[in-house]
Amino acid sequence: MDCIFCKIVAGQIPSEVVYTDDRVIAFRDINPMAPVHLLIIPREHIISLNDITERETPLVGHMVQIAKQLAKQQGIATKGYRVVINCGPQGGQVVQHLHMHLLGGRELSGGLG
Ligand code: 5GP
Ligand code: ZN
Repeated sequence: MDCIFCKIVAGQIPSEVVYTDDRVIAFRDINPMAPVHLLIIPREHIISLNDITERETPLVGHMVQIAKQLAKQQGIATKGYRVVINCGPQGGQVVQHLHMHLLGGRELSGGLG
């Protein structure tokens, strides 16, 4: 499978992993937009939010739970942070493997692009 994030899951591309379990892994974004910029992704290759059905809804809930835990672990929970899922070309999705951005550690603009 020619997917960068699947290769990260498989350990074929190095990344700075900060969390892993049987369903998801989280690692530092290679091009961080904030002092804390993590990506939380499912181990399973799911292309985008468009592919989420009721079957995967618990997985997405788990990703949110992990984002919250990592925010605390990274020391940004109290000051605040942002969780973003880009979907599709106009949504700014570049990597075609579902991922959740966790951003924090600086004042983020109020705008949504
Ligand atoms: P998107 O624009 O698809 O929502 O976000 C993709 C993110 O993946 C970008 O923020 C980009 O910097 C990050 N990214 C792309 N390739 C790699 C990589 O090989 N390693 C890591 N750690 N992050 C990557
Ligand atoms: Zn993939």
